[in-house]
Amino acid sequence: MKIPEKLKSEKIRYIKILQGKKRPSENNWQTTQNYSYKEIKEYLKNADTYGVLCGEKSNNLAVIDCDKKELASAILMGLPSTFTVQTGSQGFHFYYFIQDLDKKIVLQTDKEHFGEVQFTKAQVIGANSKHPNGNIYKVVHDNKIATITSSELTEVVKPFRKIKKVKYSTNKGFDLDIAEVAKLIPGLDATTEGLQGANPQHGSSNGNNFCVNLEKGTWYCHRHQTGGDALYLVALVENLVKCKDILPGYFKSNPKVFKQTLKIAREKYGYDIPIKKDIVELFTGEKSNKLNVQGIVEYILENYTFVTIRDETSKKPHIYIYRDGYYRLNGDMEIEKIIKELFDNVPWKSFYRNEIMEYIKTENIVDRDAIHPPSHLINVNNGIYNLKTYNLEPHNSKYYFLYKIPIDYTPQATMPRIMQYFESTLRPEYVDLSQEVFGYCLYFS
Ligand SMILES: [Zn+2]
Repeated sequence: MKIPEKLKSEKIRYIKILQGKKRPSENNWQTTQNYSYKEIKEYLKNADTYGVLCGEKSNNLAVIDCDKKELASAILMGLPSTFTVQTGSQGFHFYYFIQDLDKKIVLQTDKEHFGEVQFTKAQVIGANSKHPNGNIYKVVHDNKIATITSSELTEVVKPFRKIKKVKYSTNKGFDLDIAEVAKLIPGLDATTEGLQGANPQHGSSNGNNFCVNLEKGTWYCHRHQTGGDALYLVALVENLVKCKDILPGYFKSNPKVFKQTLKIAREKYGYDIPIKKDIVELFTGEKSNKLNVQGIVEYILENYTFVTIRDETSKKPHIYIYRDGYYRLNGDMEIEKIIKELFDNVPWKSFYRNEIMEYIKTENIVDRDAIHPPSHLINVNNGIYNLKTYNLEPHNSKYYFLYKIPIDYTPQATMPRIMQYFESTLRPEYVDLSQEVFGYCLYFS
């Protein structure tokens, strides 16, 4: 009896099996009584069954021991092809190296058992061995053993496991509407259970590992079994925190990320967060008689993004504020509003405004010539359309867009009336060209 080529490896350990049974013939097979390929080859001269050790000792080999068709087809569709064996009892063994798996997984729901993912301290009967019922463990896919990650695995086997109770990560006292955030995530489909699609941060192998419940104001990732409210969704979409790390209390222990998230929520997702007056000192000095210009400006810049644009034609620089995905010219007015709100308990002097405005105008000054956004990017209502990748990307304040086309990019949109007009007016060969001409009008160069 021979071990198939694809299962021969210096990195894999093999086990002696009680002949005519499925269990190891020696104690301590998990630790010491396991063998290299050379050693087991000798043994197999006089035996027709051997085991393959899973887990760390075999280079993190995991074998999905699959008893049911539904599970087998989910693996075939969702994971890369790999070395696959039909077992003596007509199930399947799918072999994978998974470096970041930590333990065996039982694939079982309340109703049904589907199999196991064998890992540390487990073994499976090897290919070409004989089952106690006389059947041979046959190689059905003679591929080399594929390497996958544990999250790829857990996403695919998710429907075959007991559902854990999710602890949603939420924030008290913030009422950002999750629909405002979700509408900027491309490719989500409306279903009866809410919006569904691929996780906006790490994608999905089956295209469906992420959902948003608009009624409850929560979202959920099946791959990482994490979920949260609208503010955590902003942090997820904006890549401020890894999906797997979004656990209850994350913002509390990471106040910097929390601040960044609030700022972006305000700038891009239309969230009107009230200003916290107690966190900035308006006056300093021994007798609290000096206006704390620097402190106030720092506070404003921490919470809002501005740019001061200078150009040759006008002597006066203009302040632009970043809101809803682009820089708006009314920066001066916005700042005045913010300043007045900060001072609403203090008798007002226009001197305060002038001092602060002058200071802000010296921060982040750019020349108009230096701020052209790349010409392959088009700023639209729900993101930035990239003409090189043909993808919609999130709005980003690093590009100095001074405009936004107030229309959503919708890949599946059609234009029946325009097509009707083209087709009734133009010769057929000019229809495509005419569409392209209009398309080029969006091209900013
Ligand atoms: Zn995730």
